[in-house]
Amino acid sequence: MADTIENVIIIGSGPAGYTAALYTSRANLNPLVIEGFLWGGLLQQTTEVENYPGFPGGGIAGPELMQKLRDQAEDFGTRFITDQATSVKLADEPGGIHEVHVGPDVYRTRTVILSMGAEHKKLGVPGEAELAGAGVSYCATCDAAFFRDQVIMVVGGGDSAMEEAMFLAKFGSKVLLVHRRDEFRASKIMEARARKMDNIEFKTPYVVEAILDGEGPFKRIARLKRSGTDEIEDVAIGGAFIAIGHEPQSEIVDGVIEVDDEGYVKVDGRSTKTNKPGVFAAGDLVDHTYRQAITAAGSGCQAALDAEWYLRDTPQIPTPPSLAEGDLAEAQWAPQASA
Ligand code: NAP
Repeated sequence: MADTIENVIIIGSGPAGYTAALYTSRANLNPLVIEGFLWGGLLQQTTEVENYPGFPGGGIAGPELMQKLRDQAEDFGTRFITDQATSVKLADEPGGIHEVHVGPDVYRTRTVILSMGAEHKKLGVPGEAELAGAGVSYCATCDAAFFRDQVIMVVGGGDSAMEEAMFLAKFGSKVLLVHRRDEFRASKIMEARARKMDNIEFKTPYVVEAILDGEGPFKRIARLKRSGTDEIEDVAIGGAFIAIGHEPQSEIVDGVIEVDDEGYVKVDGRSTKTNKPGVFAAGDLVDHTYRQAITAAGSGCQAALDAEWYLRDTPQIPTPPSLAEGDLAEAQWAPQASA
C-alpha cells in the first residue's frame, strides 16, 4: 500500500475524467488518474466529432480530441496510471480515507471522482464481437458513411434506434429496423417520423440470432428469428447498427455506493456528490439522458470543483496547502461548521 494520501484519484478517462483532471491539476491538487488500458472512452471509437464546441471547419477526430484533453491535463501535472481500477474501499465518514485498488496496488486518497462512463449494450450474438468495426457498429453518426447505398440493419425499439434509423436512411438504400416486439419503447413522435420515411422497413417481432460474414467487404448476413417461433430468415445486409441502449460501467462500485435500477451512480441534486463523503461521480456514469462529450466534460468540471471544495471545507481534513482558504466560493461542504 502506498504511504502517500492523494488529494484526488480520478477513475476513468473520457471527457469527464480528463476535464476533472484538468481542473484539479490547475487547483494544484496533483490528481492521479486511473485511466484504464483503453483510455479515452467511447470517443476513441468514433471518427469526426462535429458537435464539440471549439472545432469549426469539420470538427475533430474522436481519438485526437481525447489525446488533446489528456495532454492538456498533463500540461498541469496530472499523473496517469494506464491500468484498470479493480475495486474500491470507500470510507463512510467525512474526511475518511478511501482506497482504490489497481490489481495488487492500493492507492489511498481523500477524494475519488468516478467517471468510468458507459458502454453500448451488446446483443451478445455470434458475429457481433468479431465484426465490430467491420460491419457491426454502435454509432450511426460515426460510421454511416461507410454504408452508403447498402441495406443497413438497425436493431432496437427505443428512441436511439429510431434516431439511428432516420440518420442512416439518408445514407443507405434501405434501413431494416429489427425489433423483438411489435410495440416500441420509442416515443410516438419518433416512431411516427421513422415510419414516414420511405426507405425504412420495420421488421417485427424478430430477434437477431447471428451476424455472419457474407461475400466481400461490407457484405453481411443477418440471421433473424421470428420471436416466439422457430422461423429463421437470412437477410443480406451491408452492416448492422446496434441501438439497444447503454449500460453504465459501474461494476467496481456496485454494492459500495448507491446506484439506480439500471446501475447509474446516484448523485445529490445538481451536484456530483454520491452518498459517500468525498466521492463524486460525473459523465455518462450518472447520465441517462444527455450522454454527450460536452455534457460529460461539464460534469467532470463540476466534480473537480466539488472535490476541491470538499477538501477545503471539510473540518476533518487539513486544507491542502495549495488551496486558498476562504476564497470566494461558498463553503459548500461544511454547513454545520459555518452554522
Ligand atoms: P431504451 O429506451 O432503453 O430502448 C432500448 C431498446 O432496445 C428497447 O426497445 C429494447 O426492447 C431493446 N433491447 C434492449 N435489449 C435488447 C436485447 N438484448 N435484444 C434486443 N433488443 C433489446 O434505450 P435508448 O433507445 O438508447 O434510449 C435511452 C434514453 O435516451 C430514453 O429515455 C430515450 O428516450 C432517450 N433518447 C432520446 C432521444 C431523442 O429524443 N432524440 C434519442 C435517443 C435516446 P424492449 O422494448 O423489448 O425492452
